[in-house]
Amino acid sequence: MGFLRKGTKCLICRAQKIDREAILFLPAYRLALCKEHFISWVKKRVYETIKQFSMFSKEDKILTAVSGGKDSLSLWFILNDLGYIADGLYIDLGIDKYSEDSKDLAKNFSERIGRKLYIIEVKNEIGRIPEVSKITNRPICSICGTVKRYLMNKYAKQLGYNIIATGHNLDDEVSFLFNNTLNWDIRYLSRQYPVLTEGKGFVKKVKPLCKITEKESAMFAFFNKIDYIKYECPFSLDSVSIKYKKFFSMLEEEFPSSKIRFYNNFLKNIFEILSKYREEEKLRNCIECGEPSLNEICSFCVLKNKFRKLENELELTKKV
Ligand code: SF4
Ligand code: ZN
Ligand code: ZN
Repeated sequence: MGFLRKGTKCLICRAQKIDREAILFLPAYRLALCKEHFISWVKKRVYETIKQFSMFSKEDKILTAVSGGKDSLSLWFILNDLGYIADGLYIDLGIDKYSEDSKDLAKNFSERIGRKLYIIEVKNEIGRIPEVSKITNRPICSICGTVKRYLMNKYAKQLGYNIIATGHNLDDEVSFLFNNTLNWDIRYLSRQYPVLTEGKGFVKKVKPLCKITEKESAMFAFFNKIDYIKYECPFSLDSVSIKYKKFFSMLEEEFPSSKIRFYNNFLKNIFEILSKYREEEKLRNCIECGEPSLNEICSFCVLKNKFRKLENELELTKKV
């Protein structure tokens, strides 16, 4: 959000010959808006993104991945407001207070909008994420990502949903894109799109907030009195993506619209070219759980087996 000179009028109100003061300014679009028109601007932008990328229609059954944060709750709110059939899935990662607090917020919000919320406990599926990370000695966010992707897909199918909607915002997308560009990682770049199509055991995944910045999403949540978790996951503090986000926000301050231009122009000019280099992944069914996998045993089952084995060894040494 940019600096707003006192007395600036809302541009949309002015066009409708209404004399109303703006309460925020979006420098990337040179737009000064009142509260009401900011809310409708965000909804319209999300709706246009859904249409632009043919994400889903009113007939689809959408499962919203809800973390208790501003993005996923705002997304859930908008989808229902726009008239889509969207329920929620909360994955309890077992990260102590953070998981407890975010779960409560997700539950309260589901009651507020009158939509079903499914809760999956990671401790019953594999183990609490910090414990799995500690015992297997693997980076926590990488484990967390593997587990969330696996459970989301598995439960969406089991529960009868054909779309998974996630709350990734423009800052998330720009940060992934920047990381992949720094490394010229063609494999990831050729897949970085707001829609991942269904097939071969995978449910279609979409990111309807990909053109909404983190700040816009936070303002939207604030104006709609959405109660979301105000602190980050304790393991996110050192993450590279947070540093890239900070870097891009500094750039945006100096050169408004950098984020949206970087992302839009990638989709418009580069993605198409790179997608020609996308290799078809040879998927099969995991011999242990039946879910889609690149190898005989999927990465979730490999992780689970390793964790169980090390956990048993640890138990044995404690007894000796
Ligand atoms: Fe999981 Fe890492 Fe995100 Fe925390 S920061 S929720 S551990 S991916
Ligand atoms: Zn207005
Ligand atoms: Zn498996």
